[in-house]
Amino acid sequence: MTNRHVAIDGPVASGKTVAARALASSLGHLYLDTGAMYRAAAYLALHYGVDLDNERAILALIEHHRIRLEPDEATSAGYRVEIDGSDTGTKLFDPEVSSAVSTVAALPGVRTAMVSEQRAIASEGPVVMAGRDIGTVVLPDARFKFYLTASVEERADRRAKEFAERGLDVGIEEVREQIEERDRLDRNRAVAPLRPADDALLIDSTALQAADVIARMRAIIDAAP
Ligand code: C5P
Repeated sequence: MTNRHVAIDGPVASGKTVAARALASSLGHLYLDTGAMYRAAAYLALHYGVDLDNERAILALIEHHRIRLEPDEATSAGYRVEIDGSDTGTKLFDPEVSSAVSTVAALPGVRTAMVSEQRAIASEGPVVMAGRDIGTVVLPDARFKFYLTASVEERADRRAKEFAERGLDVGIEEVREQIEERDRLDRNRAVAPLRPADDALLIDSTALQAADVIARMRAIIDAAP
């Protein structure tokens, strides 16, 4: 079956989510930020004081609590994440969750649960899915696969600006260290490590505006038979 799924992977702050959201809206596809699902799992672990490597306990939390992503253009992210029907607001993007998420996302059982949910969503219709393992593991047959990169300096700069917009005062050096640590964990985990799929198109966005990245992706999609 020919599908119109779009997979966008890349390291922290490479511009995936902005591109995925814009592309989904212009194509009329669903937009799914898979990072938010792992963030919800990390949030639950922190909230209930469960050790971040306690796979059984974290799986029990995921099974017990209902995590739902709802498209919502009124939010800055373009969706809201509800846990048991309550909006998590910006909590999933708090620094504590960001520091914990890669440890939780490395747990094989957690990945199995998330991937099965992501595939179920994709089976319902065209989706633009952003993450780390979409082109390699979740949707290996996706019609379009992009892998975004940018220099670590540029990515730290972008993330520091986002923090400043949220009123959080985090120094650029600290931001850079956090990015490098998360990328290191994501690239070196045993299951579904961050890497480009062999058939992904690599886009280095260091010197590009988000609009240029989106236009480049859109041109490739439009030119496809
Ligand atoms: O995209 P975002 O930075 O919100 O992702 C948070 C974390 O979730 C990543 O650093 C990674 O550890 C994990 N993740 C993952 N696989 C995905 C998406 C995110 O392991 N498909």
